[in-house]
Parts: sequence; C-alpha cells; structure tokens
Amino acid sequence: MRALVLSDVHANLEALQACLEKAPSCDLVINLGDIVGYGASPNETVELSREACGVIIRGNHDKACVGLTDVSAFNPVAAMAVEWTHEQLTEENLTWLRSLPSGPLAVPGMDGVQVVHGSPRDEDEYVLLAADAADSSQGITVPITFFGHTHIQGGFHIVDRRQRAFRPEFDAVDEDETWETQLQPGGTYLINPGSVGQPRDNDWRAGFAVFDSDSRRVTFSRVVYDLASAQSRILQARLPQRLADRLAYGR
Ligand code: ZN
Repeated sequence: MRALVLSDVHANLEALQACLEKAPSCDLVINLGDIVGYGASPNETVELSREACGVIIRGNHDKACVGLTDVSAFNPVAAMAVEWTHEQLTEENLTWLRSLPSGPLAVPGMDGVQVVHGSPRDEDEYVLLAADAADSSQGITVPITFFGHTHIQGGFHIVDRRQRAFRPEFDAVDEDETWETQLQPGGTYLINPGSVGQPRDNDWRAGFAVFDSDSRRVTFSRVVYDLASAQSRILQARLPQRLADRLAYGR
C-alpha cells in the first residue's frame, strides 16, 4: 500500500495543488495538520484537503484559527495570521476544522504506522533533533511515526539508545526532485514529509513524502510551484509582507 504524506500546508493553495498534481498515484493521502495559518487561501486549502485526504489530523495553527487555543504561544506575525484566518473561514470550514482529531492516529491498512502533528507524546512538541526524537518516542511501540510541525524534511531512526538523523540530499532548487530511502528493520522511525506550504529547511520548493508500506521505502519529494501567485495573494490579503518573503527562501 502506498500513501502520499502531506503536512503543514498553511493555506498555500498553489503549493498544495502542485503536490497533488505531481505526486505519483497513491492508495491514500494523509495530512498531518496545519492546513491553515500564514497563507492567504484558508478556505480553498481546507476544501481541497477535505476532498483529497483520507486521513487528517489537526495542527496547532488549525486549533488556534478555530479558537480551540489562544494565540499566546504565537509570535505577533503568526498571531496576526491566525486572526485574519479566523475571519476568513466559512462557518462550514470552521466546524470541519474544529472536528479534526488530534494525533497519534493509526493509519488504516498500514500496520505499525501512526501519524502525529508534533511528536508521539505531544501534538504541539517540536522534534528538531535526534535527541528530541529519542526523548519523545520513549515507550512508543509503533515502529513508524510520521510527524510534521517543524517544516523540516527528513527523519530519525532510534535503535536501542542510539539515534540517527537523516535528511534527503537534493541538487537543484529550481526543478522537481526526489530522494529515496529504505527503512531498516527494527527500531523506531520518526519521519517528517516536509512542509507543503511553508518550508523552513532553506529550500523554497513544496515538500511531501510517499511511503510504500510493502517495500518500506520512503520517497521524499520537492516540487516547484507558482510561488509568485501565492506571494501576491498574501500581499493582496494585507497579511504581513514577511509571510510572502519567507516563502522565497524556504525559511
Ligand atoms: Zn506548521
């Protein structure tokens, strides 16, 4: 069985469309949350996600944008985007976002695979380092966890007490690329498909991953998308300029 894994779309419609168009055909589309927040197309990305994704969990921005949490933990720019998004969302989309489950959630049809937004023990926790990965997955018996939240593509393999980080190796920044890795038997994997709509690993291209549960291979992808259009929507919406600028740098 093959799953397309998406995360952190952040209301970037152009990036989401590019990922869905360019990804190979899969049996299931998984979304790890943060569908909205930052970008200028919250209703469109909610509606496309509802249509395309079979498994969806909520992220911290989804919670804040629908009023399930307050914005005290957000920086001023993120908080401004939360307020704007809340005003834009239709009643129907607000209700749908509010009803999203939190992780960890098992993936139907894939034994030993779960999805979370932040970490296995806390949906809001950032897993940035191998030490965080080992810490946050202590006592977790599920072999493979897909997570998002950091907007950094790659993953961690924890075997006994040793942890190893891996990142896809890409050459270009202006064309589509893939990088494949074979999961080893044993241990625990935490895998981040990267961010669709606001990458922060110095690569502006939209990120996603494809997981084949039979061969246990993960293919990380970066695809180019209509960046100028996503940026101009942000500016037209009078969201902070910084939110448009950062998309170009992948930071
Ligand atoms: Zn996010």
